[in-house]
Amino acid sequence: MNFSVRELESLRPRLRDGLRFTVQEQGAERVCVIEDPVSSRFFRVGFDEYRFFRSLDGSEPVAVLLARLARDSSGEGFSESEAMQMLRWLNDNHLLATESDRKTEDRTEAQRVFSRAATWLNPLVLRVPLARPDRFFARLAQLLRPVLGGFGFLVWLGVLLLAGSQLAVEWPRFRTGFEGILARDNWLWLLVVWVGLKVFHEFGHGVFCRHFGASVREIGAIFVLFLPMGYVDATASLGLASRWRRIAVACAGVYVELFIAAIAALFWAHTPNGPTATILHNAVVMGSVVTLFFNANPLMRFDGYYVLSDLAGLPNLATRARSWLSRTAGWLLLGAKSLRPERPHGARDWFIALYAVAAWLWQLLVFGGLLFGASALLRGGGVLFAVIAALLWASAPLLTIAREFSGWMRSGVGASRRFFVRGAVLLGLVATLLFTPYHKSVVAAGVVEFRDTRILRTECPGFADRILVHDGDLVEAGDLLVELRNDEATSEFAQARLELAAQRRRARYSYTRGEIADYQAEQSRVDSMAKVVQEKQAFVATLQIRAPIAGRVTSRTLERSTGAFFERGAEVLRIGDHRDREVKVAVGQDAEPHFRAAGASSSPAYVDVRVEGRDGDPFPGVLNHLDDQASHHPPHEALTASIGGPLPVRRVPAMREEAEHYELAEPYFEARVLLSVEGLPYLADGELARVKFRSPRSVTLFSEIQTAFTRWVRKYGGG
Ligand SMILES: [Zn+2]
Repeated sequence: MNFSVRELESLRPRLRDGLRFTVQEQGAERVCVIEDPVSSRFFRVGFDEYRFFRSLDGSEPVAVLLARLARDSSGEGFSESEAMQMLRWLNDNHLLATESDRKTEDRTEAQRVFSRAATWLNPLVLRVPLARPDRFFARLAQLLRPVLGGFGFLVWLGVLLLAGSQLAVEWPRFRTGFEGILARDNWLWLLVVWVGLKVFHEFGHGVFCRHFGASVREIGAIFVLFLPMGYVDATASLGLASRWRRIAVACAGVYVELFIAAIAALFWAHTPNGPTATILHNAVVMGSVVTLFFNANPLMRFDGYYVLSDLAGLPNLATRARSWLSRTAGWLLLGAKSLRPERPHGARDWFIALYAVAAWLWQLLVFGGLLFGASALLRGGGVLFAVIAALLWASAPLLTIAREFSGWMRSGVGASRRFFVRGAVLLGLVATLLFTPYHKSVVAAGVVEFRDTRILRTECPGFADRILVHDGDLVEAGDLLVELRNDEATSEFAQARLELAAQRRRARYSYTRGEIADYQAEQSRVDSMAKVVQEKQAFVATLQIRAPIAGRVTSRTLERSTGAFFERGAEVLRIGDHRDREVKVAVGQDAEPHFRAAGASSSPAYVDVRVEGRDGDPFPGVLNHLDDQASHHPPHEALTASIGGPLPVRRVPAMREEAEHYELAEPYFEARVLLSVEGLPYLADGELARVKFRSPRSVTLFSEIQTAFTRWVRKYGGG
């Protein structure tokens, strides 16, 4: 049954018989607990609401009631809209018996059928009661009594801190565990972990509720968008006199889940990567992040909401917030002065208004997120499914709003023409915001490199005897850079030279004696020995390392290398052509179309290059090349997170004949940007840089959100 303004006139609502009321004092505040013995449910309402409810005896129409209420209370009467919200609330909770004339009864019957259908269509409210567990929880609470108090809390805190420190230590490994958390073969485990956590969550509510002496009437399952959650009817805890106990019962579910998450984290830290670690990881994420996000969030009507409304001393916070919001919307859209909300006086009014706006924005965000997420996750046909699910989800609140507005319009509170004009303008503004194209700045990470870099390696191994250059020195081609010492090779060379001289003497001797055959044999031995000497000389000569080209010396370890031994083939230093430098850029999949568009234009694509740790103007560069295919292989070692770069990596387990190594967690395209030489300071090989430019490709806010979601799904969906 629903009320419109006109129906309100003829309604004579009355509270159902048999309800029990208890008034509690809370400091200066008075609230009332309503107990419904038939359904064994409890409700907390403010004292003003309570007085209004008590005045409902079926003898007077609502309008008369309101007028009287306004007279009695010192000018703080309820508005029609607020009264309607409250009546609706009473009706939704089956606390109301209405007596009205025949005509409206027919109508309300039709509406009742309709709203019941909407309830069933709306997957939000599928509630399946399962058991009446009061005695079970009574026993459980008795059993757990020693850990429900301060001692238990200290243990809880200790375990949480321990788990937190473990996670902090292993954070990189934990973070990589997020990837593929929504992967197809992980869904079943995710569901199992979820259901398990929710069972413990509800047990938490039940045990604490019973522990404080309130009964637990019912447990069951509730399906939110087909996602199973449990519920424990702990509404009896609303009858508890102590506010902190009520809050404790509301927090108990999250309290238990955080504890389980902490235990799972401790086990996870000691489990090597594998299926078990994945399940534990799921439990940690679900029991902490997800629970805090949903259950502890006061903007939805879960545990966090009840804690907040109790803390604020506003038992009907959501109802009052919704009323404030719909009135404000009515005032703004219909231009109805009578709906204009009074300026909030006092902190409480401001709180309600702020809560109303925050909760509304949050709903919008979740709603949009679900739509985008589902369409990105399911692709193609999934969009249709997402739209249908979203419509089902939103149908009930939308219908309520529509009915309220149509009520206002029919009763002449606001003009319908104005509503359509203002609504159209609002829609137009939103559409403009979402679909206006603009050019955004694109940023990608890169590494400075010399275009022509020579790596100088040893040929003859040896000890570094003299090092004649420093890291960053400019050298000319042919300059001596490093002198190695290898006594063995040098003496072998000297020995070979002596032997060659002796052999030459022998050959000369045979010649002077005229022994031609002998001479020829000796002479050919001279030739082969001369070749050996030549080889040894060339080999020893490589102990002197010279610059093959003019350029800049780079070696991070050179300074410390005097006296060090270099194996054969070891890298001693590098020389790069300092006049020509480029930046190797890793282009992510989101940025790739923008780089591609910039590269495709006929004029050179200018970009700004900012080198890390160097202030002042960015260096100008030109986009020179973009790979056709993305790869998990990093464009440059320095970019990878494993050595402090910006790109996340993942470990590739050892395969046959291949050692364990790292690759990029996401594929990147490699691009190259040429730096123009003029005014360029000395940039070392391997300095990190950021390349930035305004993309020639236009985007809209809508396409950006879509891209972000697709990326998110790709990352966590493991696809
Ligand atoms: Zn809960």
